[in-house]
Amino acid sequence: MVTSYAYSIEGAVLPVRVAGDVALDFCNTLAGWDEDDPKEYLSGYRELVLWAREAGLVDADQAARLADREPGAVLARARRLRAALRSAVVGDGDWELVAAEAERAAASARLTPAGWRLPERDELPVLAVARAAADFLLSEHPPVRACPGRQCGWLFLDPRGRRRWCSMATCGNRAKQRRYAERLRGG
Ligand SMILES: [Zn+2]
Repeated sequence: MVTSYAYSIEGAVLPVRVAGDVALDFCNTLAGWDEDDPKEYLSGYRELVLWAREAGLVDADQAARLADREPGAVLARARRLRAALRSAVVGDGDWELVAAEAERAAASARLTPAGWRLPERDELPVLAVARAAADFLLSEHPPVRACPGRQCGWLFLDPRGRRRWCSMATCGNRAKQRRYAERLRGG
């Protein structure tokens, strides 16, 4: 499947990364937050691993070794982290859960000549995301906005205060077409 908001890779359908920061892109692995029928891109552990690899959080060799495992509990943890992170960024804040995962990542990292490396365990993608999330929350970053598009709610950085849609090619265009159709109906 290829659309302007998702692409297919090695049998997984992953969302395009348009947020401007990997932590926000992780939040965007669900679309339609607060709606009845959200679109879940983290449909399995394999999708989580491939997403983390594509986002540059897990290297290709590690991803290849992890991708065929099926630790359901880790997937559930990733989804909880995602919801907590999103609420820490644009909601009323769920700092505790994000902090707990980030602290777990910090505690398990090993210092190597190449830098701090996380252990290759099933939970690697969760720890890597948690570390990126902590970096983002503690950084001075531009304002974050949530796309108002239907079935969207994707987050993105809005440095100039002028970006309304996650992508003009998808949500912006859909809204434009809807307004056009309404105008035609209204005569
Ligand atoms: Zn959108």
